[in-house]
Amino acid sequence: MQKQKWKDSEVRTKILQDIEDDVERGIKYILIEAPTGIGKSWIAATAALWNREVVILTPQKILQNQYDESFDFMKIAKGKGNFMCKQLDDKYDCSYGDCKGCDYYPTNPDFAVDAEGTENETVYQNDNLQRNCPYWVQRKICEKSSFSVYNYSMYFNTQLTDFDYSDQGAKKIKKILICDEAEQLEDQLGSLLSLNLKESLAKKIGSDVLQKRIHEINLTTNIEHIKQMIDDLIL
Ligand code: SF4
Repeated sequence: MQKQKWKDSEVRTKILQDIEDDVERGIKYILIEAPTGIGKSWIAATAALWNREVVILTPQKILQNQYDESFDFMKIAKGKGNFMCKQLDDKYDCSYGDCKGCDYYPTNPDFAVDAEGTENETVYQNDNLQRNCPYWVQRKICEKSSFSVYNYSMYFNTQLTDFDYSDQGAKKIKKILICDEAEQLEDQLGSLLSLNLKESLAKKIGSDVLQKRIHEINLTTNIEHIKQMIDDLIL
């Protein structure tokens, strides 16, 4: 069979047509493999506008920035380590702040959305833009937006968990999820869900019993035995 020689724009159009066909056929999970430079973020942006809402995940901040620079309607959110905490006089980053009850914490009614779900969508903060916490302002703008771009770890740790201070209530799970560089998804999930049992840590907390139990784990140890050990540690 002769290899087709398409221009990049033709390839993008073909990929979008395939996505549309798959969606019409009720396919829920679509995997796209395409070379660098083909315009995958452009394809993601087009799919987002079709569906009027999306969450895009990237493994790196630099890719988040690319979406931010290329598409005005997309909003990005970065982790607490990227912002200085006003409560702590800008001496430490926001991961050290105690947000509950903080005067700089903006509430959800402070934000409003205009032209929702369109290319012209804008998320406003009603007032106090300068005064409020920079971490929460950008995070709430991203959460309110129909087109949110997170890095994997921030999305898992803030949008898929209840162990995170926020007044947003139930998290807004958007209609479509696009995982950019999806070959890294398994590793990203693995790093979130993995637990290291180390003898050295047991030694550090002075637990000889725990150190012995960890030492006895080997390739033939029953998984139920390990689960029991974790239960004992948590309870
Ligand atoms: S809301 Fe912002 S300024 Fe206040 S403690 Fe949290 S991170 Fe710091």
